[in-house]
Amino acid sequence: MPAAPPIAFVVTCEHGGNRVPRRYARWFRGGERLLASHRGWDPGALTIARALARALRAPLVASTVSRLVVELNRSPRHPQLFSDLMRAAPADVREAAFNEVYVPHRRRVEALVRRSVARGRFVVHIASHSFTPVLRGRVRRTDVGLLYDPGRRHESALCVAWQRALRARAPGSSVRRNHPYRGTSDGLTRALRRRFGDTRYAGIELEVNQRRLRATSIARWQRLLVASLVDALAAIGGPRSGVNAARRPGPARRGDSREAA
Ligand SMILES: [Zn+2]
Repeated sequence: MPAAPPIAFVVTCEHGGNRVPRRYARWFRGGERLLASHRGWDPGALTIARALARALRAPLVASTVSRLVVELNRSPRHPQLFSDLMRAAPADVREAAFNEVYVPHRRRVEALVRRSVARGRFVVHIASHSFTPVLRGRVRRTDVGLLYDPGRRHESALCVAWQRALRARAPGSSVRRNHPYRGTSDGLTRALRRRFGDTRYAGIELEVNQRRLRATSIARWQRLLVASLVDALAAIGGPRSGVNAARRPGPARRGDSREAA
């Protein structure tokens, strides 16, 4: 981390629920199973996001609208911005979803980053996601993936330290970097990297295996993820304010929180 600027944290959750606002409901008839599956949302990701935001005293921007309505973690021109269900709807319906769900989330996140950068802070953005333990018949053994851009020094340093800290706290667990996906793929963090340089912004996608986020294990992994992040921040020598805040867990700043978009 840069020695000078104190760190500001921003926590986001793009796939926190599988809600379908009423005006889009008719396009989802018969799609209930798809909505309930990992393709509809990231089970457990919002719980982890809330825990991180609380521990870091960071604003949380979360959406509980299904990614099948509009995919918040793709750029506007990406072919997968809309699911097949929404592609069957007229263009004005998709446009409404884009304007009502996508744009507010993106604007809110970018405004928080921009505000902190303008105040001379270094922003650490953690986007909380989860992945299905079985994909196309293949079991995925990774417990936690940390996705980042290896070309960005501060993202790399934080992820190396976080991986090390989590392995130390959870021996035998599989913690990998840029797995099961690459951190440089199209998405929210990549879009923000283009606006904010390496010395101003670090965008990390936290990907947790959903088998670790079941009712019996989620509390343990929530604690492990928070504690190991605090360890990692201390290990890399910063942030002064962030580590202090993280060691004194308190309520999230409700004024900055915008859940259930
Ligand atoms: Zn996700």
